[in-house]
Amino acid sequence: MIKRRKTRQIHIGPVAIGGGAPISVQSMTNTDTRDIEATVAQIRRLEKAGCELIRVAVPDMEAAVAIRGIRERITIPLIADIHFDSRLAVAAMEHGAQAIRINPGNLGGEDKLARVVDAARQHRVPIRVGVNSGSIEKDLLKKYGYPTPDRPTALIESALRNVALLEKLSFYEIKISIKSSDTLTTISGYRELSEKTDYPLHIGVTEAGGLIAGTVKSSVALGILLFEGIGDTFRISLTRDPEEEIRVGFELLRSLRIRQRGPEMISCPTCGRTRIDLFPLAEAVEKHLQTMETNLKVAVMGCVVNGPGEAREADIGIAGGHGVGIIFKKGEIFKKLPEEELLPVFLDELNKMERERREN
Ligand code: SF4
Repeated sequence: MIKRRKTRQIHIGPVAIGGGAPISVQSMTNTDTRDIEATVAQIRRLEKAGCELIRVAVPDMEAAVAIRGIRERITIPLIADIHFDSRLAVAAMEHGAQAIRINPGNLGGEDKLARVVDAARQHRVPIRVGVNSGSIEKDLLKKYGYPTPDRPTALIESALRNVALLEKLSFYEIKISIKSSDTLTTISGYRELSEKTDYPLHIGVTEAGGLIAGTVKSSVALGILLFEGIGDTFRISLTRDPEEEIRVGFELLRSLRIRQRGPEMISCPTCGRTRIDLFPLAEAVEKHLQTMETNLKVAVMGCVVNGPGEAREADIGIAGGHGVGIIFKKGEIFKKLPEEELLPVFLDELNKMERERREN
């Protein structure tokens, strides 16, 4: 149903971006990059959650050097995020960064940018031209004003101006992002940008907020863009543990039926008919599902009115009764249990189903 816009393809390590490749979900660490142990530990948790590309901040030379130690111990491609200092960009690539995110115009001039581009070519590293509302050049702000939903032009022109600096050096392994914290500016900006370029696009709402506000803003903006076929990779930016960004990212892809990773959970909001303590039960099931990779449909329902119907359609489900619960498997009643025995039996069955599916 979704027709994706045609973009060129680049590669970050083994991960293809654009050109029809699966839309990849990425995140950024919030550890001190110089602290290799902590950064590796966080990236490993993110890998487990499904993160496909990881970006680390490189604010100084020690962080650039740490990239080697981090990369050796992780499996997903590592992107270095650099501002202003071309030496850090070069050092990050020399120490194994598989992509860099820069703003070519703020590296201190053409000579410095040329050195960065030489290193990128030598190490076969693509560059993300990342501009955001706060980094727009003064002359563009004067010409167009601050970007707004109906006038994202300054953001787009800034990005294309920075891309042109790379193209002037015959460098084309590029992806582009134009980030705004405003949902509507994000939508209109990427729509317009996708008409003007066929470089792959990294989409996202920057500084989107906490779990609820950030998820809603990102889902609205990215949901609309992805539905229109715009975007080749994305990050859901949340003021939370980055693992949450990955979970929200995959839920977004699932809800648009673009990609499916891990089980899908359906659970009811509860109402006056509910006679079991559903919230802790649903929470425990949801937590457990985060550790699973198999594509299963799992229902947790509060009563026998709608419960059994939903539970039956799922691969496995619970419908609550009066202090009891019925477990359904593949449409059939599997067990009726007292409320307190429900969770361990249910989790056990989930694990069995995951094992069976893996073996088949
Ligand atoms: Fe209420 Fe039952 Fe629907 Fe849950 S499934 S919201 S308990 S009617």
